[in-house]
Amino acid sequence: MITDTYNRVHNYLRISLTDNCNLRCFYCMPEEDYEFTPSAKLMQVDEIEAIAKIFVAQGVNKIRLTGGEPLVRKGADEIILRLSKLPVNLTLTTNATRLHEFVDVLEQANVRSLNISLDTLQPEKFQLITRRNLFDKVFENIHLLINKNFHVKVNVVVMKGLNDNEINDFIEWTKDTNVHVRFIEFMPFESNRWTSNKVFTLKEMLETIAKKYKIITLQNDVHDTAKNYKIENHTGTFAVISTMSAPFCSGCNRMRLTADGKMKNCLFSKKETDLLTAFRNGEDILPLIYKSILSKEKELGGQFTTDFKNIHTENLHNRSMISIGG
Ligand code: SAM
Ligand code: SF4
Repeated sequence: MITDTYNRVHNYLRISLTDNCNLRCFYCMPEEDYEFTPSAKLMQVDEIEAIAKIFVAQGVNKIRLTGGEPLVRKGADEIILRLSKLPVNLTLTTNATRLHEFVDVLEQANVRSLNISLDTLQPEKFQLITRRNLFDKVFENIHLLINKNFHVKVNVVVMKGLNDNEINDFIEWTKDTNVHVRFIEFMPFESNRWTSNKVFTLKEMLETIAKKYKIITLQNDVHDTAKNYKIENHTGTFAVISTMSAPFCSGCNRMRLTADGKMKNCLFSKKETDLLTAFRNGEDILPLIYKSILSKEKELGGQFTTDFKNIHTENLHNRSMISIGG
């Protein structure tokens, strides 16, 4: 068991397959020219499988593939199929632009649940946020997966003044659609135009929704990063990921592996541990994994607190979200 100094057992590994993406979400990818990692520096298919097996032998039973966009990674289908042979709950987070090409692979790999990002229900705003004109494809693919009985969670990063006025449109979508919408508080990463006044908090979201609907609180799992709710008589459900105003670090069971093979013990950790170089040198990476987890901070990577109005982004040390793997 991979346990940290706060007795948190880590059984969930998120693996980034690439820092490349076919969208350009401004809150994720830095504004200045971003250079994608060359493929030789990425973990190769065999390396991903071998490193994943080392984590699984230590008790990891859930793996999420992410990125960048995991489905633009060359060989994504092979990676999915190979990891599906491990005794884990395998899932992924995707922007859905290419999902239609992967339905068979996902079914073959027994992936039953996946997270899809969609921040707006308005095509023009989608183009503004992602700088690509692919709203229709994404929306169509979400429904394709729902119709094929996948459990679809839709991630919506809520930014004050940009899409907070669409919260109840998303809630209305859950009325007759079997979709689980997850509203995410906007988080600060390198060069992502974050300012505290763009954070729309859990409290503000619930107040907005309660003006129009009767909210029912649902049960949460101890490791849930989201607070779960539904509206009376709606088919779908919703949740809020309140990282900024009410984080869930005490139940954290997550570790991350960047596409270039660096372990991060927290989304906001300053430090990284280079597993890939050690692995390529034939070293035993297990001591490195344990050393990394034993240095995990109690909350938010030790970089800030829920007093997010006082965050000075210039003092935060982290990668951009696209290169961490969200
Ligand atoms: N390309 C895939 C996608 O968009 O779903 C996977 C990678 S993306 C980095 C993973 C998740 O992180 C997405 O749901 C995205 O909306 C979220 N994300 C990225 N930057 C964020 C930020 N600054 N605050 C909150 N969530 C963010
Ligand atoms: Fe790409 Fe996902 Fe980041 Fe958007 S949020 S730029 S889709 S990795």
